[in-house]
Amino acid sequence: MPPGDLRLCNNCFKQGHIAADCTNDKACKNCRKTGHLARDCRNEPVCNVCNISGHVARECPKGNAIDEGRQWLWS
Ligand SMILES: [Zn+2]
Ligand SMILES: [Zn+2]
Ligand SMILES: [Zn+2]
Repeated sequence: MPPGDLRLCNNCFKQGHIAADCTNDKACKNCRKTGHLARDCRNEPVCNVCNISGHVARECPKGNAIDEGRQWLWS
């Protein structure tokens, strides 16, 4: 798998693999926590860019700073 693979798993919402390869628990689409589904979610949405709750990726103050998030993925 090449560096820079930013596929987002639809099951656990971690990057670098797809749901077919996922071995994690299914997570909420909204807040990325396990144990409930998005339609039951009462938490703040989590940003795809910085993984901080309270805003979504298109509103992210980090903008295109995805490279920072990559480091932990491939270390
Ligand atoms: Zn996964
Ligand atoms: Zn949730
Ligand atoms: Zn963000």
